[in-house]
Amino acid sequence: MASIKIRNICKQYGSGANAHTALSNVSMDIPDGGFVALLGPSGSGKTTILRAIAGLETLDGGSIEIDGVTVSGPNTHLPPEQRRVAVVFQNHALWPQMTVAENVMFPLLVTHKRSAEMEQRVRDALANVDLEPLAERYPDQLSGGQKQRVALARAMVGNPQVILFDEPLASLDVELRRDMQRLIARSRSPQTAIVYVTHNQEEALALADRVAVLSGGKIHQLDTPLALSQEPATRMVASFVGGRNILQAKVLRSVAPGTVLLEFNGYTFTARCHHQPTETTAWVSVQPSAFACAAQDDGLGMQVDYVFFQGDSHLVEGRCVAGENNFLTVRLPLSEKPAVGSQCQLRITDAWVLPENAA
Ligand code: ADP
Ligand code: MG
Repeated sequence: MASIKIRNICKQYGSGANAHTALSNVSMDIPDGGFVALLGPSGSGKTTILRAIAGLETLDGGSIEIDGVTVSGPNTHLPPEQRRVAVVFQNHALWPQMTVAENVMFPLLVTHKRSAEMEQRVRDALANVDLEPLAERYPDQLSGGQKQRVALARAMVGNPQVILFDEPLASLDVELRRDMQRLIARSRSPQTAIVYVTHNQEEALALADRVAVLSGGKIHQLDTPLALSQEPATRMVASFVGGRNILQAKVLRSVAPGTVLLEFNGYTFTARCHHQPTETTAWVSVQPSAFACAAQDDGLGMQVDYVFFQGDSHLVEGRCVAGENNFLTVRLPLSEKPAVGSQCQLRITDAWVLPENAA
């Protein structure tokens, strides 16, 4: 069993005038077998959280429990080798003088003598990542994707309670990423909790049960991928996850519980909300794919600045014709390609009102 309980952890680097707060009051629970992704821009504190769980950083406040045991807390710091935590880094960190099989066996040799059972475990771990035929190769005889699979086998071989991934796919090309995503999904077990760091929202939403969106060392939202996509809690989450448009609209009236009628630049539309807004204006987020072309003159007018072909659609960037010229990013079907420099009329098919206290 391997649940992780993180309570109000704080971390500062440096001191005095050079002090820098990397984490402030971060809390989360990861259940047995759970898979949480930490998603956020560079410098938001993702790696620091992983290092704190692994025992590579001491805390300035708060505590971390793994399987009911406090591993970090006031006056407590269990060293990394006493935590059953494995880490997979972006740069795979294999030992160049060891074969693939020796690299995978290495964590076992730290605590046990070499045995036939151990060799079987290494073979099983390599089979799990489809690498058995390459067991006797050296790291410099492997591709980037193969090296990363060795790192994954090495992380899994000791049946860790926790596997931490730090941007494991960042240096791989698109096809290899999908292969590794399959292997990572396959590596899940009810005994292992996974924490997976990425700045790639597509990856976080595809793999994790729950995603924590971080910015400036704080969690903005910790939710299921569906809830993050449909009901972002803050403007930061709305724009970072799914590149949503954020508009300030006038509140007209409630239509039904959870639905409100709004007006933006003379265009009237409905949006989903948790609570009926109490103010006269509301921040609304609209996914690029939640726009459609409108009949002439009865929509939201947009001046088209750029059109990017996306294979199955066009991503169109432009500015609102009326009002404050807000920028919009809109995904339109291939059949509706607008010309650069032209004006088009849009409808909003789905929108979400951000909670009123949202940052
Ligand atoms: P992320 O992994 O999200 O990119 P990090 O956790 O690595 O972010 O870093 C969070 C913040 O802490 C950043 O502003 C970074 O510059 C700072 N930081 C990280 N490690 C150190 C360190 N060893 N010394 C000083 N500052 C650090
Ligand atoms: Mg990092």
